[in-house]
Amino acid sequence: MNPNSIKTTCPYCGVGCGIEATVLDAGQHIVSIKGDDQHPANFGKLCSKGATLGDTVSLENRLLYPEINGQRSDWDSALTLVAQRFNRIIAEHGPDAVAFYVSGQLLTEDYYVANKLMKGFIGSANIDTNSRLCMSSAVTGYKRAFGADMVPCSYEDLEQAKLIVLVGSNAAWCHPIAFQRIRRAKEQNPALKVVVIDPRMTSSCDIADLHLAIKPGMDGLLFNGLLAYLAETDTLDQDFINTHCVGFAESLAAAQASAGDFAQLAANCGLATHDLAQLFAWFASTSKVVTVYSQGINQSSSGSDKCNAIINCHLASGKIGKPGSGPFSFTGQPNAMGGREVGGLANTLAAHMDLENPLHVDRVGRFWGSDRVANQQGLKAVDLFDAIAAGSIKAVWIIATNPVASMPDADKVKRALQQCEFVVVSDCIANTDTIALAQVKLPASGWGEKDGTVTNLERRISRQRPIFNPYGEARPDWWIISQVASRMGFAGFAYQTSADIFREHAALSGFENNSEYGKRGFDISAFADIEQDQYDALPPIQWPVTKTSSAGSVRLFGDGQFYTDTGKARFMAIVPRGPVNQPDIDYPFILNTGRLRDQWHTMTRTALAAKLNSHRPEPLVEIHPDDATRLGLKHLGLAQIKSHWGEMLARVDITLSQQPGSLFVPMHWTAQLSSLGRVNALVNPVVDPLSGQPESKQTPVSIEVWQPK
Ligand code: SF4
Repeated sequence: MNPNSIKTTCPYCGVGCGIEATVLDAGQHIVSIKGDDQHPANFGKLCSKGATLGDTVSLENRLLYPEINGQRSDWDSALTLVAQRFNRIIAEHGPDAVAFYVSGQLLTEDYYVANKLMKGFIGSANIDTNSRLCMSSAVTGYKRAFGADMVPCSYEDLEQAKLIVLVGSNAAWCHPIAFQRIRRAKEQNPALKVVVIDPRMTSSCDIADLHLAIKPGMDGLLFNGLLAYLAETDTLDQDFINTHCVGFAESLAAAQASAGDFAQLAANCGLATHDLAQLFAWFASTSKVVTVYSQGINQSSSGSDKCNAIINCHLASGKIGKPGSGPFSFTGQPNAMGGREVGGLANTLAAHMDLENPLHVDRVGRFWGSDRVANQQGLKAVDLFDAIAAGSIKAVWIIATNPVASMPDADKVKRALQQCEFVVVSDCIANTDTIALAQVKLPASGWGEKDGTVTNLERRISRQRPIFNPYGEARPDWWIISQVASRMGFAGFAYQTSADIFREHAALSGFENNSEYGKRGFDISAFADIEQDQYDALPPIQWPVTKTSSAGSVRLFGDGQFYTDTGKARFMAIVPRGPVNQPDIDYPFILNTGRLRDQWHTMTRTALAAKLNSHRPEPLVEIHPDDATRLGLKHLGLAQIKSHWGEMLARVDITLSQQPGSLFVPMHWTAQLSSLGRVNALVNPVVDPLSGQPESKQTPVSIEVWQPK
């Protein structure tokens, strides 16, 4: 390693690749980027986005100074105004009249302080996160099955598996370095089978032995069918079921009732019987199976049930807790997992505790020295913005995210913020669709300036280290939040460094753990007394990390012990449900949204890298050739797409990767970047009633040749 290099972590996807950054010109923020050979997530590899990080750290588009009503201000005035307005609204209308909407881009330390302020001291749980849109169904699935939000697997399980099933996951584009590990494993071991279950033929199919182009929304039914098949073919792990699980009989009965006979099951899933039979036979006969699932499962009105249908099959066959085996959710964001640790969702409390458990609330209150800890769930993302629209939430602080572009029914979100009494946005970017609506803008440090930790999708905590001084008057998010908290009159926010916060977070994770308050999975109490120099040098490590397992934990549940009251995993009885909104005569197509290989979220950073923009320079709508011909749509011509909720224009991309009757539009473009419109204005705001995750994969739409007015 170059002695002048700094080790840090990529700020994009949940793979969490390690980076070596070498500063070439500190004043101009010129830096050379390479993969960290030693980082266990990527061993030196980077994808196109990570490799071009150096192109995205310029002064361009940076928010440099606090602003109040469009005028430059100073920190003291801006922070005092935020504290006073929040205090006044709370005094007049109660704590639930205010809200925070935060982000999986935040570092764990930022996330921790935001949650402590809202849930611990304001006394409301109205803090939700854009991670609601990416992984909240997976969280619900794990909690129901395992009693805690615990991801059982590690990347090395991908290399040890004999069968990898990718379902609702285009890992080749969305988690590229994890996908490269699968590709390399397959090259080294041709016996490794890869199956892709996805309505689209994505780049992940390039290495697939079998692609099941499932009918959209039928994944729960398919895995119910697999459970029934395991029972029918006597390929269950009956010992594991009997010793380590509860609820199997009910789960199997529900699976058998929904699946019906095999031919009917295949027809309902839109699949050829021999393809489905092949998948089932491989799953049943292969000792080491990893099922990777992502937004295609989670972003559904029955996303939690789909997650549990997958987990059921792993429990039933004992394919969990062993090398090369397990259900493995891939989260989208760089620190979605860190947000889960600190209770970043409106329905969770810090350190994997529960808002509705009085013992947990009491414990957190004693730890924080607060008697006003929230004791009921707050509003999840869609409901939160609905409450702003309805006027019951009167002040919102949006941190490091762009909901006017990224939320479903995005025009409604925009209108809600336009009429909201008090909108604060902290961000490092000056020109997002959301910050344009803020009365107070607070400049936050960006990647390369921040100092803290993130946790990737295999539970690995890595350091993000500062490479440069912040531009302008930008400050760390934790500092901004702590300053407002102190000005609101709350004690307990006098942090001097991010290490102070990490220590507190670690101490809370171990506080009275394994006591009468119940055993929790998340525990990093080994770091409760970490010194500053140890924090600075912290190597990547997978939690739990306790005094007795200080080397971290590669894999969970190897001892067959789970985090439920009984210590046994719970099978869930799944009754599959299709998407809520189905195509009809006015809106006959199914719109699916998702990521491109070379862009990240609303492109505030990746659009600054010329190389990345060349992949797809503007929003395209993918459509099957038969549909395009029938509608007179020409390749790269302009089409108008409409739903019940909104409309946009997009260039037509005619491709066999789409099934007839379906469209795909990337999620990235914003009003700031394209006059064609933003796809989330069309997306229905239907959510999973258990997880609150929106059904972003299925909105009925129409499409036609664009006619200039
Ligand atoms: Fe960054 Fe994800 Fe690419 Fe790794 S795979 S370099 S974390 S975007």
